[in-house]
Amino acid sequence: MSCLFCKIIEGAIPSTAVYQDEHCYAFADINPKAPTHILVAPRKHLDSLASARDEDRLLLGHLLRTAAEIARTRGLHKGYRVVINHGEDGGQTVDHLHLHLLGGRALGWPPG
Ligand code: AMP
Ligand code: ZN
Repeated sequence: MSCLFCKIIEGAIPSTAVYQDEHCYAFADINPKAPTHILVAPRKHLDSLASARDEDRLLLGHLLRTAAEIARTRGLHKGYRVVINHGEDGGQTVDHLHLHLLGGRALGWPPG
């Protein structure tokens, strides 16, 4: 098993856990782009959003709900952004589906 995030999820590589349940694991991004930068990843390995199938609909919804709950508990009441990068042009660098939760500062739009 060579996937970095699978190794993080199973604890073989250390990370700073933020939240976890039977479906997902949320942890601090090692190279944060905002004061709050948390990654929410499914325990199930999916290469990217494009690999998700109809059977993953509940899981995808759960990831979004989890990001919103983490934002609420972190007090990001001024706002935040949830991002999924896909593929080369989308800037994906780790091939295990994950949501970025970014907050704690005003975020520019459009992204670069
Ligand atoms: P992406 O570019 O959308 O695939 O996002 C991958 C994210 O994973 C980047 O923001 C990296 O900073 C982050 N990252 C890479 N390695 C680690 C790690 N060992 N622990 C936590 N975050 C990581
Ligand atoms: Zn994986």
